[in-house]
Amino acid sequence: MELEILKDNKTFFQIRRMNVITYDIRIEQEIIAKYIALELRMPIFYDDSHEQYYINEIISMERLNKIFRTFIRKYVVCKKCNYCSTKTCMIKEKIKTTCILCGCESEYKSDDIIYNLFLSIKS
Ligand SMILES: [Zn+2]
Repeated sequence: MELEILKDNKTFFQIRRMNVITYDIRIEQEIIAKYIALELRMPIFYDDSHEQYYINEIISMERLNKIFRTFIRKYVVCKKCNYCSTKTCMIKEKIKTTCILCGCESEYKSDDIIYNLFLSIKS
């Protein structure tokens, strides 16, 4: 499960495989994109015509995937069974994660990064 960076043209770098991976782990790609942008402290933008995310500075794939793996570990891996098997959604101002394998449930507090990321894509 790795993201890739492709030099798409002279100015921008495409982050590849975002759509495939985020589909597999049941997280909206906008959430991951915003998380990565926060961690990198640089903007990530979405191009509708190519349906891909772009950054305007080159970073190493290692750095990108380190951030991505941290996200997976913190927000996707089930705390009980350790599989990438959770589904996270917002229900009435609450962000809840449910494991589709073992049924383990958890809730994110409003000071957690993911809480604000969910809020930002809903509004
Ligand atoms: Zn589980």
